[in-house]
Amino acid sequence: MKLDCKIKIQNRQRTNGLSTLKSAKGVIGLAKSNNDEWVLIVRLFKDTNATQYKLRENVQSLLHKCINNGMATIQIKVPSHDIQLSEANVESLKTLLSSIRLASTGNNLPSSIKSTSINIVEKLQRPILQLIINQAIDYPTLKGFPSTLEKLIINSSHLRTPVDRRIFILKNLHTLDLSDNNITELPSNMEMNHLHTLIIRSNRLKSFPNTFKCPILKNLDLSQNQLEKIDLTILNLNTLERLNLSSNKIKFIPRQILRLLSQLQVFNIASNLIRFIPNCLASSGTRLHTFHYAENPLITEKSITCRRFNITLVELGLRAVIKYRIPYDFKTLPRTLCFLLDEYEICAHCALPCLTNFGEIIVPKQLSAIGVTVHVTAANQSFSIPVQERYCSIKCFNYGLKRAGMIQM
Ligand SMILES: [Zn+2]
Repeated sequence: MKLDCKIKIQNRQRTNGLSTLKSAKGVIGLAKSNNDEWVLIVRLFKDTNATQYKLRENVQSLLHKCINNGMATIQIKVPSHDIQLSEANVESLKTLLSSIRLASTGNNLPSSIKSTSINIVEKLQRPILQLIINQAIDYPTLKGFPSTLEKLIINSSHLRTPVDRRIFILKNLHTLDLSDNNITELPSNMEMNHLHTLIIRSNRLKSFPNTFKCPILKNLDLSQNQLEKIDLTILNLNTLERLNLSSNKIKFIPRQILRLLSQLQVFNIASNLIRFIPNCLASSGTRLHTFHYAENPLITEKSITCRRFNITLVELGLRAVIKYRIPYDFKTLPRTLCFLLDEYEICAHCALPCLTNFGEIIVPKQLSAIGVTVHVTAANQSFSIPVQERYCSIKCFNYGLKRAGMIQM
């Protein structure tokens, strides 16, 4: 058997606690020697030759406290080496350690464990982890992409819809950059489980796919496209920490943005068609620390945008659904009510949910007051941003008007 992972070999006798050795990609495996004994073969891809370690009565200990994170250390007696493994496949690592344990005590290994060849291990090539394509001629049209890729950058201007589906089945990809192409649409049903960075800057995207599964996506850059709204699919990427939507044609920021993107720290909505922002972006208690909003046609006057205070049965019912966290979907509630529940906002005074009946005002606010760094580039834009606040009742609404310095109604 053999296993790809990161390996660091330390000589216990030479270590003084200040080792400068770094882990490097390599392969570790089990092989049978000429005298029919199991040996451990270790090779770093940067080295040509592999090292062999006798196993029988030669393993001091196996440190496997972090085995579920793909990490373990094999302590060899002679030579006194610590072989530290990381980024290994957990199941394969467990099999390797249990096999080493058996071999060290002279027991037979299960028949499923096959001996690997030292020649094969020494001929293995370093897996290709990164590919950058800057011109169309470099595109691997016929041979396809190496399945080991972790980072893929295609900035060659020639990618257009439909985008090559072979890109989206690369299982190890953590960074995908398709900037500066001519993509108008991404494939539907995208599912990339290791992707943490997706950059599709400077394309011609008009919308985002309806189904898009990237469970650990942290950075999403869709700047310089033609998006007209922030799709629900984007709001469902609840691991996002950085979202760049600058230079699009977006008119509204959904009220529920920070309720759904609760990890969001940096939000760039500069150069769009935003006239005001929802109150959640101006509220404390979120992770947002940097907000770019320059070059938007912001409202400069304070105004009342809604004043509707007939408390209805629907309003009271929906408030109860939120208060008691009652699960709902299209099967149990009419769609219109589901949408209202998805988009509700809390009262800017008492934090009760507001759904159909509320008062709404737009007032300028300083986001720096809640610890958010605001970036403006246009000289004529102030640091105050028009914020749309909702109030649940006449009492709260009057409080809001008073606080905003507007006439009490
Ligand atoms: Zn209220």
